[in-house]
Amino acid sequence: MPTFRTSALVLRAYDFAEADRVLVLFTRSLGKVKGVAKGVRRSASRLNGCLGWLSLAELQLAGQEHRELYRITQGQLIQAYPKLKDSLEALARASRLAEILFSLTPDHQPLPEIFELAETALNLLDAGVSPALASVWFEWLFLERMGHRPQVERCQDCGQAGDVLAYHAQHDGVSCRACRTQGGLTLSAGTRRVLAKLISGHPAQLPRLCLSAGNETEIQALLDSVWRAHLGRPLKSESFQRAVHELG
Ligand SMILES: [Zn+2]
Repeated sequence: MPTFRTSALVLRAYDFAEADRVLVLFTRSLGKVKGVAKGVRRSASRLNGCLGWLSLAELQLAGQEHRELYRITQGQLIQAYPKLKDSLEALARASRLAEILFSLTPDHQPLPEIFELAETALNLLDAGVSPALASVWFEWLFLERMGHRPQVERCQDCGQAGDVLAYHAQHDGVSCRACRTQGGLTLSAGTRRVLAKLISGHPAQLPRLCLSAGNETEIQALLDSVWRAHLGRPLKSESFQRAVHELG
């Protein structure tokens, strides 16, 4: 049986049979796949400790390529992101990241650029960078690289680029007040400048980027609306993240 070695992020885990666990993995070289870890719930299992939720591990998977379920035969923990799990806000943001990868990446399609993006975002969250900034950076770049980023630079009707524009999910773009007078989510010129910097900037520059409360509110509403349009429902982690935000 062929075997594959790949880095993998654990997106979901389900207990199965007496001591097994089925995991949904986002892997660097095979894309999103499912794997079964036989006997992992026994304390003596060598896979124990590397397959926790949102852990990054180097795994050996056995099985024919594209099969429904690989067998996880070896594993070594690379990063467990322990600090991320100490902060409710960072945890809420990480759970959005996991749900986006789970719900919006195709099975069995390697997306190494998206894998690196997710890994960098988790490192930023774990390093204590503003969770909101790390999260919107990941989500906006995910949309860009998957070819789903809405055009927010200029009015899609007249081409006007200044002042306040409104995002309309049903048109997947923005319009000025003169062209479309009703509805839509406000996107100020300042917020659109932040979005442009998120796309063009290096992640190392992120801590220096200023995300005001107003920018954050507008970008969050935009992203939530985009995910709702793609999924036909809100992200499940949206309400968790909002509750944490209101607590803070
Ligand atoms: Zn216009």
